[in-house]
Amino acid sequence: MFFDLDGMKFKTLPAQVAYVNKRYGIRTTLSDHIGRNHTLDSLVRERCPGLHFTRDEFYGDLAENFLTSVDWHKDVPPMDGMTAIAPLLAEKYTLMTVTARQKSGIDVIKYLLDAHIPKCISEIHCVYEKAADGTFKETSKKDFILSVSGEKIAFFDDTPEEIISMGDTVPSYLYDPDGLHHGMTGITNRVHSWWHIGEIFL
Ligand SMILES: [Mg+2]
Repeated sequence: MFFDLDGMKFKTLPAQVAYVNKRYGIRTTLSDHIGRNHTLDSLVRERCPGLHFTRDEFYGDLAENFLTSVDWHKDVPPMDGMTAIAPLLAEKYTLMTVTARQKSGIDVIKYLLDAHIPKCISEIHCVYEKAADGTFKETSKKDFILSVSGEKIAFFDDTPEEIISMGDTVPSYLYDPDGLHHGMTGITNRVHSWWHIGEIFL
């Protein structure tokens, strides 16, 4: 079984909003950020018209000062039911984390997993890995899952695009606890909570 990290296992968005607000001296709210994960730099650019930075500079800063910072992740809570259900699933299946976070932040990912669901996750796959020359090597969640042997039971993610791009690689479930994507078509499987995941797979 494959699980996304941010917004799936942990409620990391409030910490990221707090970081961005502090770093750029702005006052964005949680709702400004919902659904904007891939255009976070443009949101900050809108709020800081006098400030000039490239997309690479923006995400470089985020990686260096937020994604690798245990301090910024100390108060990040698990999603409701996650710490109850994940250990039970781990008794029955092999669980892996698949995340669009960069590999440079893997210690923070391990910190969160060890703090809340120790010994449950067998492997962590980060989509982006920075090479020595500064370029990024990208191995998508889909390519990683295709490379794993054994029966693939399920993939869970809170981003509809991730579910759609998985195609028929693995049965994929949109985790949508707040019903943000209720009206969206083209998604076959949905779960509304970790308790719901438990009902289906335990
Ligand atoms: Mg996510």
